Amino acid sequence: MRLRFAPSPTGYLHIGNARTALFNYLLAKKHRGKFILRIEDTDIARSEKEFEKGIIEDLRWLGIDWDEGPEKGGDFGPYRQSERLKTYREFAERLLKQDKAYYCYCSKGELEQRNKELLARGESPRYDNRCRNLTKNQGIEYKLEGRRPVIRFKIPERMIEINDLIRGKVSFDTRLMGDFIIMKSDGTPTFNFAVVVDDILMRITTVIRGEDHLSNTPRHIMLFEALKAKIPEFAHMAMTLGPDGSRLSKRHGATSVREYRRLGMLPEAFFNYLALLGWGTKESQELFTKEELIKEFSLERCKEGAAIFDIEKLTWMNGLYIRKKEPEELVRLSLPYLKEKGLGGEEDYLRKIIVLERERIKKLSEVPELIEYFLVEKIKFDPEAVEKVLKRPEVKEILTSLKQELENLSDFSAGSLEKTIRNWTKNKDLKTKDVFHPLRVAITGRTVGPGLFETMEVLGKERVLKRLKGAERKC
Ligand code: GLU
Repeated sequence: MRLRFAPSPTGYLHIGNARTALFNYLLAKKHRGKFILRIEDTDIARSEKEFEKGIIEDLRWLGIDWDEGPEKGGDFGPYRQSERLKTYREFAERLLKQDKAYYCYCSKGELEQRNKELLARGESPRYDNRCRNLTKNQGIEYKLEGRRPVIRFKIPERMIEINDLIRGKVSFDTRLMGDFIIMKSDGTPTFNFAVVVDDILMRITTVIRGEDHLSNTPRHIMLFEALKAKIPEFAHMAMTLGPDGSRLSKRHGATSVREYRRLGMLPEAFFNYLALLGWGTKESQELFTKEELIKEFSLERCKEGAAIFDIEKLTWMNGLYIRKKEPEELVRLSLPYLKEKGLGGEEDYLRKIIVLERERIKKLSEVPELIEYFLVEKIKFDPEAVEKVLKRPEVKEILTSLKQELENLSDFSAGSLEKTIRNWTKNKDLKTKDVFHPLRVAITGRTVGPGLFETMEVLGKERVLKRLKGAERKC
């Protein structure tokens, strides 16, 4: 099996396209076939090198690797359409020679006018095949007028049926279509033509792509037939929608893989979540390793209905993956986010902090805010906590006295701290909550966090005493 992902570098890798890449990749790997990356950059005005680079980086980040493609090479390259223009011209020539294509001199304005007329009559706009039977002389005349022709494909009139691997039988009546352009007047191919020529030459056996391409498929099939090539199998995946059922857009939040990378999603989590967008096992299993996905994936279990991209679920899943990470690795992954906020610390100290906070991290971008109080000299106090907890009349005395008790404590481990503070509370005839709450606010500035004694152990004696002193001033 040979499958391909064929992005157009007109933007960064969109969630929907990343899923297309993933499904092609999974199926290729499952059948020990080849996965090919092809850059479809014939739209010169909209394609950018920067986007191509970005797409490649994001695919690599996701853990999707290809057997053939730009930079990597392969037997059927080049894998960038802009480097294959000569080939498309040759194929178009072939169709012209066989009378399966023709030059069309109609101008944009003329076409627009005719489409307007069709619309006014309640018909859908399409080319009226006017230049199909031009005489040689008419062609020469048009050329002399300075018109630059496009090349159109002569559509055979018939029904076309495809057996889509996800959607089943779908049929199209070509009588409703006009002859379509395969080569533009600037000598570059149209998307429909380049795709087919490349799928033929790159020996693609299976095309998995978004449903938005379904209406192009009959055109592709006619071209495969005209070029006497084997037609690949097709699988059109339903679109990805936002939670409100409308097409996924900026309105729903980030839509590119890059943005989720920045937010601190882990590639493993993202890979896993993407696979569940429109696919699932009978048992509705949610967590999969890459190897499991390669083993389990099948087009039969792809859903025909739209997939809903739910950021909350992705975030939840990311949290699960974060919890499975070794603390050392989590520290390494968090460092860029900390640095961005001007935070940092000794590796060993950071590791201990991360062990404490790991359960609460849902994405790496939350790490700085979550652990900031461990890393700064002057902690920020939650004003409400100061008001409701520290300002209570008895608190100042409790903190002062507790500070003295802790000054004499040599074993500052969580166990020893708990025993000491509980005993002290009991001896003073106080309730635990009346001591623990102010103590937490005093040393962290917040009302919630990981275990109080574990937090104190990680902060260490010196910091804890300093913070108690500082908090006294707030009481
Ligand atoms: N270049 C097309 C796109 O980005 C994909 C074409 C295809 O998969 O056939 O939508």
